[in-house]
Amino acid sequence: MFNQSRQRLAYWFTLSMGGILIFFAAVVYSREVQTQLRTFDQDLYARSKAITTASNYQFAQNQWRVDLGSPQGEIVYIRWYDATGRLQQFVGDRPRQQAVGALGFETLVLDQQALRQVTLPVYRQRALLGYLQVAVSLAPVHATLQQTQLFLALGVPVTLGLIGLTGWGLGGLAMQPIRRSYTQLQRFTADASHELRAPLAAILSNAQVGLLAPADDTVRPRQRLEKIVDTTKRMNSLVNNLLFLARHDGKLAPEALRSVDLVSLLQPLAADYAAQAADQELSFVSQLPNQPIPLQADPELLQQAVKNLLDNAIKYTLAGGTIELQVFSQGRRAMIQVRDSGSGIPAVDLPHIFDRFYRVDQARTRETGGFGLGLAIAQQIVQAHGGQIRVSSVLGQGSMFAIELPLKP
Ligand code: ADP
Repeated sequence: MFNQSRQRLAYWFTLSMGGILIFFAAVVYSREVQTQLRTFDQDLYARSKAITTASNYQFAQNQWRVDLGSPQGEIVYIRWYDATGRLQQFVGDRPRQQAVGALGFETLVLDQQALRQVTLPVYRQRALLGYLQVAVSLAPVHATLQQTQLFLALGVPVTLGLIGLTGWGLGGLAMQPIRRSYTQLQRFTADASHELRAPLAAILSNAQVGLLAPADDTVRPRQRLEKIVDTTKRMNSLVNNLLFLARHDGKLAPEALRSVDLVSLLQPLAADYAAQAADQELSFVSQLPNQPIPLQADPELLQQAVKNLLDNAIKYTLAGGTIELQVFSQGRRAMIQVRDSGSGIPAVDLPHIFDRFYRVDQARTRETGGFGLGLAIAQQIVQAHGGQIRVSSVLGQGSMFAIELPLKP
């Protein structure tokens, strides 16, 4: 699929760029023809004018006659016509007709040779003496144009080839992010289906076992139903998380942002988690500044991101440990830090910790009920606000998650 799209991209790129190239080559060639012919005509005109001024005119037998000399260089013939346009004299090629024909420049083919002919009226004291006609071979122009043709005939296909290669290269580059997101999407779909399959299988087996119980047994079916309810709740939370990730992809629209004070946004959260931590014999320390920290944010989403970090801190810290929530501003940025003295994260896992469905220790996290989506959601929320989330952790000593957000301008 990707190769086909890449080929199609390269094909259309070559076709469009090649079309433009051929069009420009044609324009350049036709301008070259015009320029060559104009220069050639100017030269021919100058030479013919020189002949008319240098020639000796004599009036004899009621006619003006001219000393035409002999044709030199490229000149094929010189002809002299009287004032009525009838041929009187010529040197060089023998004329086939007696009449002067059209005045000015003309291109002719004579004995398979292309000629450029100019016919000029010759005046003396405002009286028309006759017409001088000079023709030269177009061979030099043809030679120059042939060189241009050769250059274009070689240059255009080579350039087309280069364009094709560039198109192929650019197609590959353009495919890279698409291929990456496609692979990510595929992995995400596979992971999500995998995560949903396990609870579905649990629901089915619990329901089947419940149905097999004897009619007078009310205890076992009830236990099974309770398990089904628990599993369905987990499934519900997974589906909600998936929907969340799908809905909040990309940067938030400016109209979704509100002016909020980060301190008053996190104060109720700190109180809630202090109570939760106390229930689990953890000490909770919160350091919130007295002055407000203004932000442009979606308050609920931002709370969700911090909740995910605090949930993890509580989940992965054993009784007796400490959890710290610190909020402060630094330069043009607001900082939220969640620190714990919990299990810590192995260094090899740290680069993947924000990936969707990534769990450090599958067995341990299955016990804690995590799907590996909490940090991915937190990161997505922070990035949607134009911020960054970082982690530092030492295995066995604890972790520190830091959210950095731009302050309200
Ligand atoms: P989960 O729902 O499994 O907690 P998360 O995306 O929130 O998913 O976290 C991914 C993994 O990172 C977790 O499975 C856990 O192993 C690890 N992790 C996250 N936060 C912490 C923490 N504070 N201490 C230790 N490990 C953590």
